[in-house]
This record gives sequence, structure tokens and C-alpha cells, in this order.
Amino acid sequence: MRRIGIMGGTFNPIHMGHMMLAEWVRDALRLDAVWFIPTGSSYMKDSREILPGRERLHMVELAIRDNPFFECLDMEVAREGRTYSYETLEQLRAVYPKDIFYFIAGADCLLTIDSWKNPERIFSNCILAAAVRGDVSLKEMEKKKRELEQKFCSQGKIQLIPFLQLEVSSTEIRQRILQKRSIRYLVPDRVIAYIEEKGYYCEKDESVEKDQESS
Ligand code: ATP
Ligand code: MG
Repeated sequence: MRRIGIMGGTFNPIHMGHMMLAEWVRDALRLDAVWFIPTGSSYMKDSREILPGRERLHMVELAIRDNPFFECLDMEVAREGRTYSYETLEQLRAVYPKDIFYFIAGADCLLTIDSWKNPERIFSNCILAAAVRGDVSLKEMEKKKRELEQKFCSQGKIQLIPFLQLEVSSTEIRQRILQKRSIRYLVPDRVIAYIEEKGYYCEKDESVEKDQESS
């Protein structure tokens, strides 16, 4: 019986906030491994701004390569159509019935998980490990945790993990690239090199809009 962290995300692109969160929770919960699972086509985000799944997956692979606890799975990227976390967890449960899964999530996910598809089927297959950033939001998160436990799952299915306040996001990274600002130390070096080689994120919507018009 292993204890596995599941780190879902768009990773458009992966950044140090993701990596530190995964390592922090791995350490805090003494996990045996953390599996990064980039989303396929996300139904919550504007797909025009998002690089193809294979490209986001490749950047995750480059980023986590030297951490022996980290792995990257292509199950969502490989799946056709929309991605739902409950399906991913049910698939993992079917293949690994004995393992305990911890779904690692930032505070924003805890606050919105009610609106995800079939939250009760998420909770029936994992424990939600939600990162708390700074103690201002701790009260709010504890309230939300109680509310969710009443609504969807039993007690103990949500663990709040005190985490650092890291004001980095993929949105911020994409903006900085667009503005030709440095992203060094915000994104792993190998990922920066790949983004530069491919010219990703530096032309925003215009090119994508043209592509869409022609298709
Ligand atoms: P975007 O800006 O495009 O929304 P993001 O940086 O929020 O991207 P996601 O791929 O949406 O990245 O997030 C994946 C997971 O990582 C989520 O659970 C999110 O809460 C968490 N996360 C992202 N950035 C941070 C951060 N700086 N600190 C803690 N958790 C984070
Ligand atoms: Mg986000």
C-alpha cells in the first residue's frame, strides 16, 4: 500500500509554485511518490491560450526529471475530449486498488471544488490535500472544509496543509514572457530553454485567432 500524491493542473507552463507545492506536500504527508497529471483539454479555461497537452506534458517531464519521487502521467492528455478529475481518480483506483491517493490542490481548488463535476466521486477515491497560504485564509479554509465534509464526504477526507505564500502563477509567467521580462527562478531552467526554443507564449492571441479563422 503506497501513499501517492496526485498533482493535477494545466501546467501552462509548469512553474516553481507547482514544484514546491508537490515537494512540500510529499514531505508533510510522507508520500511515496507524487504523480503529475497535466489536463487534456480543460473545460474550465479558454482553450485558445493553452498549449497542446503533449507540449505541457513535455515541459512537466523536463521540470521533474531530477526528482526521484516525481513522475508524470499522460492519462488525461491521452484521453479524448474533456478532462474530469473524478474520472482520472476512478481510473487510478481501478488500476491501483490498494494505494491511498492524496489529491494535491492549492487553496483556489478547495474553494471551487463544489462546482467540479461529481465532487463526491472525487472524495470517494482520494483524500484532498489542500495547501493553505498564509494564516489569514486558514479560517476561511477551515470553514470551507467543514462545509464540504458535510456536503460530500466524511470527516478526514480533507487535509489542510500549511504552505508558503508564493505569488507565482502560470498566468503571470505567460504575461512576463509576452512582456519579454525574465522568468528565471520562477520556471525551471530546462523548461525556460524549451519555451525559448519553441517561441511559446510570446505572441499571445493574434496568431491563434488567425489559425482559428482559417480552420
Ligand atoms: P493559471 O494561472 O493558468 O491558472 P496556475 O499557476 O494556477 O495556472 P494550474 O495548472 O491552474 O496553475 O494549477 C495547478 C495546481 O497548482 C492547482 O492546485 C493550483 O492551486 C496550484 N498552484 C498553482 N500555483 C500555485 C502557487 N503559487 N502556490 C500554491 N499552489 C499553486
Ligand atoms: Mg490556476
